[in-house]
Amino acid sequence: MLRKYPAAAALLSVTVSWLVFSAAGGAAIAQASGAESGTKSQTHGTEDGGLHERRLEYDRMALLTGFAWYQLAAIDQYERTLSDAKPKERPKLGQWAGVYISEEKWAGELNPDKGDSNPKSIRVFNGIGRDGDGDGKAERTNDADLLYSEAAALLRYGSSQEDFAIGLWEYYHNIRSVQRVKQFAKLYETFDRLDLFQGSFPLPVKSQYSYRSTWGTARSWGGYRIHEGTDIFAHHGLPVRSTVYGIVEIKGWNAYGGWRIGIRDLNNRYHYYAHLSGFEKKLEAGDVVTPGQTIGWVGSSGYGKPGTQGKFPPHLHYGIYRDRGWVEWAFDPYPLLHRWEREELQRLRSAKRNP
Ligand SMILES: [Zn+2]
Repeated sequence: MLRKYPAAAALLSVTVSWLVFSAAGGAAIAQASGAESGTKSQTHGTEDGGLHERRLEYDRMALLTGFAWYQLAAIDQYERTLSDAKPKERPKLGQWAGVYISEEKWAGELNPDKGDSNPKSIRVFNGIGRDGDGDGKAERTNDADLLYSEAAALLRYGSSQEDFAIGLWEYYHNIRSVQRVKQFAKLYETFDRLDLFQGSFPLPVKSQYSYRSTWGTARSWGGYRIHEGTDIFAHHGLPVRSTVYGIVEIKGWNAYGGWRIGIRDLNNRYHYYAHLSGFEKKLEAGDVVTPGQTIGWVGSSGYGKPGTQGKFPPHLHYGIYRDRGWVEWAFDPYPLLHRWEREELQRLRSAKRNP
């Protein structure tokens, strides 16, 4: 599904900036990054999972495209989450890059050579494949080429914040994609790092609460729907904390969930906290939260018009939904809850040992 380029001028300016850049010092940077990628196989699977190297690649690509590193990181991470959700349709193409581009889109729909890596013929057939590492080839299995190709497709619309959103819309034709990439970019920009995957248990781990795996059991209150989440029973007023680094997507009343809040993380998962007695006042939709940060308090709101409470014992209903591009699917949060609880207790113990 290739779209016509909006203006030859925009396309030309991309080409020209790439050439100018290559002539003026691009080679030095390409060399520096070549030395870096020479250690790729070693850095992969080490303590930071190759994140340091990835950050260097985003920085290099930022110089090349005029996008901010966190916008590029956001694109790459969004693509990665789509592939995680649909691994068969979107097999891994590179080593570290999350970007997936189909053969048709890469080479051009009418290109007889589906595996074309010649930038010139790819352009003739309106493919989006580009050379991002300066080796003269546009290879669909090369990380820099993959990321640069998507960035170059977006760059046709410009590199300002507004242009970026328009470019994303033209690339995905899905308003959720635009929202996700912008959310991810805000998270990366706020923390200025890639390592944002630590989790926390939603209630203070040293408090009184109880929960068990209830996935798929019928709702205790209000009918036959499959129970999409885990109920954590606790005293009214106990702090409810974000489990992840994320962005507040929704905050307000919902007939079933009562006072509820929804938070999006970098794995493109939506974390849903329901039946709260109240919200942390300062928190608004669009705000960034960290794991362990208080977002509200345990309550028994819900099952009625705004303000209804006390129809059931106080508990936190916690659900996680995975965005698969067009639809969101609930999955059982119990194993993650259990892991976060264990990891947080371990962190508390080791902090005690090494104050
Ligand atoms: Zn529940």
